Amino acid sequence: MHTPLDWSDVTTIREALTRASSFLREQGAKDSLFEAELLIRHSLGWDRTRFLTSMNDSINPQVVQQLAALCQRRATHEPLQYMMGTQEFYGRPFVVRPGVLIPRPETEILVEQVLLRASALWGEDEALFAADIGTGSGAICITLACERPQWQVATVDLSSDATRIAKENADRLGAQVRFMQGDLVQPLLETGEKVDILVSNPPYIPSSDVEELDEEVRLYEPRLALDGGQDGLICYRRLCEALPELLKPKALVAFEVGIHQAGDVAEMLHQSGVIDEVDIVCDLAGIERVVLGTRK
Ligand code: GLN
Repeated sequence: MHTPLDWSDVTTIREALTRASSFLREQGAKDSLFEAELLIRHSLGWDRTRFLTSMNDSINPQVVQQLAALCQRRATHEPLQYMMGTQEFYGRPFVVRPGVLIPRPETEILVEQVLLRASALWGEDEALFAADIGTGSGAICITLACERPQWQVATVDLSSDATRIAKENADRLGAQVRFMQGDLVQPLLETGEKVDILVSNPPYIPSSDVEELDEEVRLYEPRLALDGGQDGLICYRRLCEALPELLKPKALVAFEVGIHQAGDVAEMLHQSGVIDEVDIVCDLAGIERVVLGTRK
């Protein structure tokens, strides 16, 4: 462990901001001022307005000590979201802890596409059955359940930690989701249920690339949520093999994919023999990020 920082000369909010921000900058933070603000507000439980209008207020020495400890944790690349315990996804706050992947903005595109395409295929009011494979924090399944309360939403994860955290999120957000623990679609195959919508953001980083990821990701996020096997495509392969058994006669499949994987995954959807149309959607960085398959 590090020796604790001595910031006992810091007496106001403004001084705390300056001190924390220059410490984080020296440690290599890209947006040190923003991070310092978040950590101070987190230590005080303040919103942005309160913070911005209290710059000259004095700050409690215990809070300063707590802030210094948070800054030291951040210097070891611990993700801010784990430190604060929360990440916003599709306009809702999700509890996140080290047992689950921090939901990413790219995944919002996946969810948006599912909602758009489902409306186009079935209309808004149909009571569809949607399954989300790889629950994580519950970002996908809970958002779908909140946005389309008339749907039945189920989700599967291998990790009991993830299932526990996602259940907590469902309770907090008032979402009705059926949680199952197991390996990919295995629990669904066992019950013989067929789905209208299959959505997944599976682990897709090729095993040998996991070591190359940023420290923030590599040291703190669960490997189970990242490692997609030798070529990164193992989960898609297994999911696509199960499609003939899983899909209803009219169905939608939606996958998030990693860089340069969309073509291979599109091909797997075709090869399944039950998909009539495949479509690819790019993220805001122009990377092919979402692969959609429709069975008509
Ligand atoms: N479905 C979750 C998410 O998108 C978890 C995904 C994962 O762990 N690979 O955030």
